[in-house]
Amino acid sequence: MAIQIDQFMCRTDNFGVLVHDRDSGDTILIDAPEATPILAAIERTGWTPRAIFTTHHHPDHVEANLLLKQRYGLEIIGPAGEASKIPGIDRTVKGGDSVDFGGRKVAVIDTPGHTAGHITFHFADDKVAFAGDTLFAIGCGRLLECKPPVMFESLKKLAALPGDTRVYCGHEYTQANAKFALTVDPENAALKARAARVDAARAEGKATLPTTIAEELATNPFLRWGDPAIRKTLGMEGASDADVFAEVRKRKDVF
Ligand code: ZN
Ligand code: FE
Repeated sequence: MAIQIDQFMCRTDNFGVLVHDRDSGDTILIDAPEATPILAAIERTGWTPRAIFTTHHHPDHVEANLLLKQRYGLEIIGPAGEASKIPGIDRTVKGGDSVDFGGRKVAVIDTPGHTAGHITFHFADDKVAFAGDTLFAIGCGRLLECKPPVMFESLKKLAALPGDTRVYCGHEYTQANAKFALTVDPENAALKARAARVDAARAEGKATLPTTIAEELATNPFLRWGDPAIRKTLGMEGASDADVFAEVRKRKDVF
């Protein structure tokens, strides 16, 4: 198994990601936020994508679809629930489906919340997941098309992946997310230490992604609905996990 991943910035805070398999030579792109930096990454790596795996329909994830399709004749694969909004889509997938990459199966996980049809691509053999705008480092996507319980169920699925799963996300939002997280989880030593590492990385202009499921379980308040200290801070000791999540999301919306 020889997966290689090249992550690069697009637009202001989006990530573009090329995924390459050294053995087979297969390459795919996760989302297509902006043509120029994607073309530069293809040039730099020498990896020509034969498909785009699309997480959701937002313009900052599909803007370069048609240009790349025209140039490389690549296949655009995306969520069935959002097919009509994804330019150039060739094939739709939904939770439980799998797509091929370099001879292995990539699992499609339904992760609605940020958008109603949002999907996550899980490369189980490689222990890598591409979560788009569902899960962020120390954060989660805004609930633009769904109610909190829908996102809660999606995040529960991601939280259940193996702890050493590397997670790539759609945006570099970690520093702002850490500032908010400290307001609901102020005594969390792992979070405080991570916030300091994030500040140092950003001061050097470095990306803070990928993350891992284990690191998120330790520091991400959107996954820590069961944590007694967060519940105490929120005054929600007896509340359901879903309600704790909803309250954290609500507070972040107005932070
Ligand atoms: Zn989005
Ligand atoms: Fe986005």
